[in-house]
Amino acid sequence: MKAQKAELLRCFKSESRVFDDPSSLQIYSFDQGEVPATLRKILLPDSRPDLAVQPASVQDLSATIRYGLEKVIPFVPRGAATFGMGGAVPHRGGILLDFSTSREIYNFNPEHETIRVGAGCRWSDVSNYLQKFGFDVCTYPTSWFSTVGGWASTGGVGIGCTRYGSFHDLIQSLTVVLPSGEIRSFDSSDPEFRNFLGTEGQMGAIWDITFRVRRKPSVQIPFLILFDESHSALECAQELLAQHKPYHLKFLDAARIHEINHLLHEEHPNLKAGVELPEKHLLLACFEDQAEALAFRGWAQKKALFVLSDYKAHLLWRERMFPLRVKRIAPGLLASELVLPVNRIAPYIKESTRLGHRFHVELANECYFLNDATALTLPVYTFHSAGSVDESLKSSLAYVLTQTGIRLGGKPYGIGIWNSPFLKAKFNSRYSALRNYKNSTDPQHLFNPGKFFEMKFRSGNYAALPLKSWLIPLWTPFLPVIANILCRGGSQTRPDDLVLHNEDLCSKCGSCIPVCPAYIDTHDERTTARGKLRLGKLIQERGSITREEANTLFLCMHCGACTDVCQSRLDLVPVWDELERRVEQQFGKDVPRVEAFVKSVEQKKIMEVPYARGAQVLAGGKPEHS
Ligand SMILES: Cc1cc2nc3c(=O)[nH]c(=O)nc-3n(C[C@H](O)[C@H](O)[C@H](O)COP(=O)(O)OP(=O)(O)OC[C@H]3O[C@@H](n4cnc5c(N)ncnc54)[C@H](O)[C@@H]3O)c2cc1C
Ligand code: SF4
Ligand code: SF4
Repeated sequence: MKAQKAELLRCFKSESRVFDDPSSLQIYSFDQGEVPATLRKILLPDSRPDLAVQPASVQDLSATIRYGLEKVIPFVPRGAATFGMGGAVPHRGGILLDFSTSREIYNFNPEHETIRVGAGCRWSDVSNYLQKFGFDVCTYPTSWFSTVGGWASTGGVGIGCTRYGSFHDLIQSLTVVLPSGEIRSFDSSDPEFRNFLGTEGQMGAIWDITFRVRRKPSVQIPFLILFDESHSALECAQELLAQHKPYHLKFLDAARIHEINHLLHEEHPNLKAGVELPEKHLLLACFEDQAEALAFRGWAQKKALFVLSDYKAHLLWRERMFPLRVKRIAPGLLASELVLPVNRIAPYIKESTRLGHRFHVELANECYFLNDATALTLPVYTFHSAGSVDESLKSSLAYVLTQTGIRLGGKPYGIGIWNSPFLKAKFNSRYSALRNYKNSTDPQHLFNPGKFFEMKFRSGNYAALPLKSWLIPLWTPFLPVIANILCRGGSQTRPDDLVLHNEDLCSKCGSCIPVCPAYIDTHDERTTARGKLRLGKLIQERGSITREEANTLFLCMHCGACTDVCQSRLDLVPVWDELERRVEQQFGKDVPRVEAFVKSVEQKKIMEVPYARGAQVLAGGKPEHS
């Protein structure tokens, strides 16, 4: 790999970086989704890339792709690695294209209400920038620190889609590097344009994106509507959508509210009784206009709905950004994701709840309503496993849930590695056209291979035989019966060791990466909270640590920005103190290197910019008028 790194560096015209050290490659081998240990051992024993490149210009990105094409090396695009389906996991090796440092804001046009940003820009970067000029994004995923390129490449459904529809519909143009290395721009009228949206890095690498933004609303008024039965809530949602235009409408079942209350009590043990959320089935509706909110109130009164607009509504509105805090409840966390017609959601939720009981997991449902009579429906379940059979059965529940949803008229949402068998069900009539496009532009299937169009593993494909698309409908109907007999509540415990304990609680959401001054200075994910927890675990598993890894672990300002944004609410600075203490005992501390690092952070004034740090505003940071 040393020779390839040197050859690649010679191809570059700008400051692009190449990583080939073993622990960086190990960090790049995961995404947010935690593959159950049994499955990982069999199917993904090694998912490290051969090299990772952070391209600093579109020309360098093109040069990397031309280089890989010549040597027949696969590519895997990666944003913030917050997608849980394995889309950014290089399980067949190759060159990982890391866009997480491409955070340029190129151009903002207030008259046209559009912005052009680098694919690695975080939603937080874009929103913080726009708010200075009285604007904001129309929609965003609840993974606030994921990349714009990542959401364009995946589903595009999140907050604000009830009003504005999918993020894909707001995109006006893209700059893409094709699998041939050619740099192309596509606008929304181009017949090829849609092939790059939601296709998870199969068709090329997105370099920049221009999309619609809006004036910042002056208010956000959340309401909660309470129901005893989930089907009543879902019927009400249909009526509400027919008559009103909320910015966002979401359904949460009573099990989900129970989880949120549990976490609230865990965080605030002295919370007074009655302060928590009512454990009912809820609709959370957010309006951004006083008149619309008033009209909604009048309508709800006439229908005698039980509506809350107090701090509980605000609490749940704030909680929307922390969907993975449930990782604190149990070590196992899995989900199914489907877009269902709104009139099919009630039977689906009834069925998913029943399946949760059969598999002895804690299952809760949420739905995000879109503007086209569909909703993204997410049954999410946590579990403690009781051995490898129990764990495998509980992991298979995700397939049973997806297959059940498809039977009820739903379409799978994310594909990645694990949902590849459901690809046809997602794209239906578009499937053949997409496949033909892939075959014509990437005949060797070098872009993101072994997933999406075909599930293939380096370790061989026999173990994955049950995941063939034609076999899944045959075994999924019987699995609940077997699970009901064999699955148990589980007794899996969390590790006692401080580092491993926090690693286990970490939801791998990546929120801590773009706010970390060490990352902004070094562009090395091993210096971030997610990276350090992984590295800490890796070192313990290996029983050894290299001097280079030890030195990297000291590159930390102990500023606590990672704790402030942490999805799992981890208290992280004491963990860094402990890690450093352990490493120092073995290797001592490279004081000159640490001092040089601190000086560099200070000189770049990284700490002076709170939380939106790291985005690079071009064109003088001023809006461009047309
Ligand atoms: C806390 C949390 C909340 C979430 N909430 C939502 C939500 O509300 N809605 C939702 O849809 N998802 C959500 N997700 C899932 C995930 O955050 C989104 O899919 C997100 O858009 C992925 O962005 P990323 O930068 O992390 O992409 P990655 O995970 O790095 O990559 C995702 C896929 O896109 C491809 N890709 C990435 N960048 C590029 C590029 N520049 N060019 C070509 N291909 C590329 C990758 O190859 C991969 O297949 C959530 C995840 C977490 C952890
Ligand atoms: S304490 Fe600061 S520098 Fe250290 S990992 Fe957390 S955010 Fe990064
Ligand atoms: S440390 Fe916290 S913010 Fe960082 S990945 Fe883990 S859960 Fe997310």
